[in-house]
Amino acid sequence: MEDETNRIYLEASRLQNEIAEYKKELDNLQFQRSRIIECIDCIDNGKNLTLEDFKLIDLSTYNNVSKFLLKLKYKGKSDIIDSRLEKNRIELKKKEDILMSLSTCPFCRGKGYVHKKTEYIRQERKIIPRISTETCKACKGTGRIELA
Ligand SMILES: [Zn+2]
Repeated sequence: MEDETNRIYLEASRLQNEIAEYKKELDNLQFQRSRIIECIDCIDNGKNLTLEDFKLIDLSTYNNVSKFLLKLKYKGKSDIIDSRLEKNRIELKKKEDILMSLSTCPFCRGKGYVHKKTEYIRQERKIIPRISTETCKACKGTGRIELA
């Protein structure tokens, strides 16, 4: 039981690190995505782009690239980012689901209560079980165990 608990804690902390990495990447991609929209806006309004903006589309300088080609490059990059965002969100959701299932209280299986006793009550011709429950002591009714 001790080994099993340690294994769960290790697995959970590994997942928490991975989730943090995915979230960082998600922020980074979303930042790039919104900057690209601003870049296209700059091109349309004749405003200057920064060196960082050119790096986004793998250009070191302006290089006499036409406005049309610049916009095309930004739109292409934007599509790439969109597909990476999509993949990132799916992976993140998977990891979060696994972490969620790991943190489910093993004593009440996440319900937050456990069966106390079962009484049988006679009602007309049927015998009906009446189950009384009590709050799970292991998780104090939350259904989750603290992994962090
Ligand atoms: Zn519980």
